[in-house]
Amino acid sequence: MTDRFDFIREEVAALKRAGLYINLRTIDSPPGPWMDVDGKRVLNLCTNNYLGLATDTRLIQAAHDALDRFGAGPTAVRSIAGTLTIHTDLEHRVAEFKGVEDALYVQSGFCANQAAIAPLVGKEDVIFSDRLKHASIIDGCRLSRAKIIVFEHRDPVDLEAKVKEHLPNYRRGMVITDGVFSMDGDVAPLDGICEVAERHGLISMVDDAHGEGVLGHGGRGIVDHFGLHGRIDLEIGTFSKAFGVVGGVIAGKKVVVDYLRQRARPFLFSNAVTAADAAACLAAVDVLSDSTELVDRLWQNTHTFKAEMERLGFNIGCSTTPITPVMLGEAQLAQQFSRRLFESGVFAMAIGFPTVPRGLARIRVMVSAMLGKSDLDYGLAKFAEVGRELGVV
Ligand SMILES: *Cc1c(COP(=O)(O)O)cnc(C)c1O
Repeated sequence: MTDRFDFIREEVAALKRAGLYINLRTIDSPPGPWMDVDGKRVLNLCTNNYLGLATDTRLIQAAHDALDRFGAGPTAVRSIAGTLTIHTDLEHRVAEFKGVEDALYVQSGFCANQAAIAPLVGKEDVIFSDRLKHASIIDGCRLSRAKIIVFEHRDPVDLEAKVKEHLPNYRRGMVITDGVFSMDGDVAPLDGICEVAERHGLISMVDDAHGEGVLGHGGRGIVDHFGLHGRIDLEIGTFSKAFGVVGGVIAGKKVVVDYLRQRARPFLFSNAVTAADAAACLAAVDVLSDSTELVDRLWQNTHTFKAEMERLGFNIGCSTTPITPVMLGEAQLAQQFSRRLFESGVFAMAIGFPTVPRGLARIRVMVSAMLGKSDLDYGLAKFAEVGRELGVV
């Protein structure tokens, strides 16, 4: 049978041949250190629950209480009848935690990038952004219809050269980078980028999705890590990773954040996040404000895991964060490695094109504070076993 969807069948067959077809695994348990995945109990080395907050009783209790108090859903967009006191409480607390003037809570980190960019730059403007930026930043930039100029990965010198060349041709300029790059785990040189932005009067924005709860004092993020308080105009964040819940945040100068309340389309045209989610986010901010214990444990586990993987002979790239890419090259090998790990009780996903460039397929291990010593030992032993079996080490 041939019909107008043959192009899809051909495309899917090609993905499968290349080892790039995504097979969804389904989880039937909380995202703890061990999870029930496709009916099998496995060690969890691939969720973004860096600090274990998704299963923290304080967050769960806060969500229960908010559900009882506010109901299941706000049933309105924020700008009409969907702004609950819990949303504004969260915005105040997160602004205080991050040391910024104001913050806006939106549906997700992805939405935050759709929300923040287009109101600030348009057709007559230019955006300078890192070559390896996240898909949600790419889409956010495209929505603005500004000219997009790519600078080389983590390279403020190249950024400045491109700013000098292109900025004079446009009305306004903006620079956007990821804080922590999610597939390689390396960190943007935000100090250097900030200096270029200041020298040339650019609006500056960092997407700190993988830095919040991880970098900086007690997880206050990349701006805190570099001591750049008040010098970066916008910090994009997510509550779906280290904070263990869901939702995005745009934090920064009051004049900008307030303007986004007037102009950001996901804020104006899509329903508010539920009270239960917002309350759990608020509890997560409280937990991190009270103690650095979880963040400290995350970094201890990260150092232990990385040192041992290197000793075993794996190429773990150039990450300086808990994200640990185990570089394997071909997508088929990465998929086979991930499958063998799963059979031996370790859940760590293979990542290939287009999420990472062709030929740079990998297993991406996410180290977390949830893992005890015996969990780390188990994971490392299985990596060693499968690595030897497949001739990687
Ligand atoms: C994960 C991620 C996002 C998306 O965050 P969600 O809250 O899951 O939508 C945005 N930007 C970067 C850099 C990310 O890593």
